[in-house]
Amino acid sequence: MAEELRVVLRNYGKINPLNIDDYINAGGYKSLEKARSMSQMDVIQEVKKSGLRGRGGAGFNAGQKWMFAYQAQADQKYVICNADEGEPGTYKDRIIMESDPHSVLEGMAICGYAIGANKGYIYCRGEYPYVVDILNTAIAQAKAKGVLGEFDIEVRMGAGAYVCGEETALIESIEGSRGEPRYKPPFPPVSGLWGKPSIVNNVETFANIAIILEKGADWYASLGAPSYPGTKVLTLTGDVVNKKFIEVPTNTTIREVVYGFGGGIPGGKKFKAVQIGGTSGGFIPESLLDTPIDFDSMAAIGATLGSGAVLVMDETRDIVDVVERIAKFFEHESCGKCAPCREGTMRMYKLMSKVNKGQGTAKDVALMERLGRVMSVACLCGLGQAAPTPVLTTIKHFRADYDAKLQ
Ligand code: NAD
Repeated sequence: MAEELRVVLRNYGKINPLNIDDYINAGGYKSLEKARSMSQMDVIQEVKKSGLRGRGGAGFNAGQKWMFAYQAQADQKYVICNADEGEPGTYKDRIIMESDPHSVLEGMAICGYAIGANKGYIYCRGEYPYVVDILNTAIAQAKAKGVLGEFDIEVRMGAGAYVCGEETALIESIEGSRGEPRYKPPFPPVSGLWGKPSIVNNVETFANIAIILEKGADWYASLGAPSYPGTKVLTLTGDVVNKKFIEVPTNTTIREVVYGFGGGIPGGKKFKAVQIGGTSGGFIPESLLDTPIDFDSMAAIGATLGSGAVLVMDETRDIVDVVERIAKFFEHESCGKCAPCREGTMRMYKLMSKVNKGQGTAKDVALMERLGRVMSVACLCGLGQAAPTPVLTTIKHFRADYDAKLQ
């Protein structure tokens, strides 16, 4: 039986998050001190060597991203923590910030030192006002103790737009503009907030940094799957006995997550599907349950690890109905800036509704597949590119459910 490995959540339930001394007594802020005794390049190389990849969903090598910002010439650089945790079913960043806010601040300050930035922002979703209070308390305590040195951190609140989790829409929002994604390149590490080099990393990514510097890149690289080392915090929801969050090494299989940690399906019912990565994640059938949760293994089966939401569905769930609701979500959340997403999410929802109502034909399903493929490459940002994933993966793995509803 696989076991939890608490790296990011190492202090969960063990310290009082509102008392900086608890964090310091647990070894906190020592890594920042250590980083400052190293060269900027050595810090970046250590993070790069650890193999840490972005935990917001895209899986980009964190050290490599820092390198881009370090190399960019500018009078001002920024560190931004993406805490706009908007993916339905995901609450891992909330758990991290609630239980150990200083681990996030320390990770940001280390990044600031490494790239040469003295200003950081935490963009926290508006639905987490109590988390904002915790963060502000932690920042005030860190400033009072002087542990952050010249590095300043400010919290900004989102206002409920899912697209603001996309890094450039988030940057627009901090700048006071409407939250719409920018064209990339240039990527934020080169030109981000107010046109300056900016690192946008997820909460969980920053929470990994201090322990990487404490225990070393080799230690971290040895955990979990070699191509996506470390652990992942997952949130288990839906038709599963244990609805809870867990932190597991990245070579843990989906079966271990659902049946081991999750305790299986309640009420003696059979498993039908699991959607990993929130609404934008792919649906996974029983036959693929032995896939490890790491980024590349998930991508190889056409699914996504994403932010780590795990939604389990039992045999009574109507997959087509679930996907219609998801299509409605994307139609609502599309910001409308690019046509493939604005029109695509709307058309996709209409087609899904038609099929779900029993008025669709095989031609409609084929059209949805074509539309989905176009959206996944033509949309401006991750929202539109990922929006068709639930449709495409369910047509692939649960075609019989669609056929049963066709005219
Ligand atoms: P992306 O692959 O475009 O970029 C990933 C990161 O790497 C970005 O920070 C980007 O700036 C950087 N990057 C990529 N290429 C670069 C280059 N050549 N030079 C410099 N920097 C570069 O992905 P994305 O659009 O940022 O994110 C999409 C992901 O977001 C999806 O896979 C999805 O899983 C995830 N997501 C997460 C949530 C959540 O709540 N956590 C919600 C929706 C989607």
